[in-house]
Amino acid sequence: MSFIIKNAKYVYTVNGEDSILEGANIVVRDGVIESINPDTLPQDIHDIYDGKDRLIMPGLINTHSHLAMTLLRGWAESVNLDGFLELVWAAEGAIMDKPTAALGTELGAAEALKGGTTTVLDMYLNPDATHAAAVKVGLRHVAGPIFFDFPGLDGLQWEERMEFGRKWPAILKEIGGPEIPTYFMPHSTYTDSPEHLREVAALAAELGARIHLHVSETLNENNMVAERYKKSPTEVCRDTGILDVPTVFGHGVHLSESDVAIAQSHKTAVAHCPSSNLKLGSGVADYLNYCERGLTVGLGTDGCSSSNDLDMWIVMRVAAHMISLKHSPADVRPSQIVRAATIDGAKAIGIDHLVGSLEVGKRADIIAIDLTALHLTPIHNVAALLVFAAGRSDVSDVWVDGNRVVDFRKPVKIDEQDLRKRVAERVKVLEELKVQPNAI
Ligand SMILES: [Zn+2]
Repeated sequence: MSFIIKNAKYVYTVNGEDSILEGANIVVRDGVIESINPDTLPQDIHDIYDGKDRLIMPGLINTHSHLAMTLLRGWAESVNLDGFLELVWAAEGAIMDKPTAALGTELGAAEALKGGTTTVLDMYLNPDATHAAAVKVGLRHVAGPIFFDFPGLDGLQWEERMEFGRKWPAILKEIGGPEIPTYFMPHSTYTDSPEHLREVAALAAELGARIHLHVSETLNENNMVAERYKKSPTEVCRDTGILDVPTVFGHGVHLSESDVAIAQSHKTAVAHCPSSNLKLGSGVADYLNYCERGLTVGLGTDGCSSSNDLDMWIVMRVAAHMISLKHSPADVRPSQIVRAATIDGAKAIGIDHLVGSLEVGKRADIIAIDLTALHLTPIHNVAALLVFAAGRSDVSDVWVDGNRVVDFRKPVKIDEQDLRKRVAERVKVLEELKVQPNAI
C-alpha cells in the first residue's frame, strides 16, 4: 500500500492544468498519493518502482460495461441492437447463472486491469456475485442492483428487486474492496415502466444512491418510448424522478437539444460508447456538443458481446476520430480525450474526489506505460501518443487503491491459466445450444 515511483520519464497528472512532469517522483502511503515531487523522499518506504522508461498516469475509467458478457465475445456479429439482443438473450438464458456471471466478471475485471482500466461502471445481474468476483481481482468495480419489469435470468420478482436494492449498501460493505458509491441500475425506459422507475428513484433518493441506465442508444428505442409515452427516454427519466438523483446515461446517442438541456440542468452525465455504437450501427453521439452544452461525458466500452473487448485505448481513439468526422480535425484535442477517459469518467460516476487524476490526497489508482516500444517512439506530443499510438499491451503495471494488481503485464491476484481453463470449460454449454452464434 506504500511505495515510491522514482524518476518517471513522464507523469501525466490530468490535474486542472493537465500538467505533465518529467523525471518526477510520486510517494504513495497507505494507498493515498502523499506527495508528487517532494524535495526529499521519505526514508521509511522501501518499495521503490523504477519509473525510467515509464509514463505514469491515472488508471482509465470505463463508464459503461457489462463485464460478465465477456463470456459471449463474438456471439452476435453482423447485427444491429435488436438482432444483438435476440441472440445474446438466448445465450444468456442458457448459461448465465450466478456463478457464471461471477466467472465472466472475473475474466472481464482481469482483462480491464491488464489494459490499464482501474474502474468500471458495470451493469449486470447478480451484482453481489459479480462485485465479489471483480473485487477479488483488484478492480474498483462500481456495480448495483438491476431493475426491470419482468423476472430476468435471476428470477427475481419486482418486490424482490426492491428488497434487494434496500439491502445493497449492507451487501457492499460486507464484500469490501476499493471505495465506490452506491448505484441502482434500472435497465432502461423501455424495460422499466414509469411506475417502477419512480419507485427506484425514490429508493435511490432515500438511500443517497446514484443511478445508471441505458438512454437513447438507438432511434428505434426513442420511437418505441415515444409511441408508449409520447416522451423521449430523457423526459421519462425526468418525469419519474430518476434525474433528481445523480445519474449516468449509458450511450445517450440520440439526445435531442431539449434532452441535452434537461440532462444539463439535472447534472446528468453521459457514458459515451463510440466503439459499440459504431459496431451496432446505433449512431454517432455528438460528444463535443454534449461537452460544450455543459454535460460531463465519460467513455465506455459497453459489454464484450457488442464491442468485443474492454479496450479503452481504442475507445479513446474512436472517440477522437468521430470528432474529426462530425466536426473537423481542428476540433480534436487529445488532452480532452485523455480527460474523458480519466477525470471526466470519475466525475460522471461521482468518484472524482477519490480518483481520476494524480493529485495529492487522492487514492492511488495508477498505471505505468512502457515507453520502450517502437510504436511509441519518438514522443513529440504526450497526449497524442496516448490517444493515437498507445494500446493495452503497453500497460506494464497497475495499482488500485495503492495495491499492485498488475505486475509487468501479469495480474497479481489471480492465475491467468486457471481462469482461461475455467472459462473454456463453462462455455462448452453454448456448443449444445440450439441458438448458434451467427459469426461467419
Ligand atoms: Zn449497455
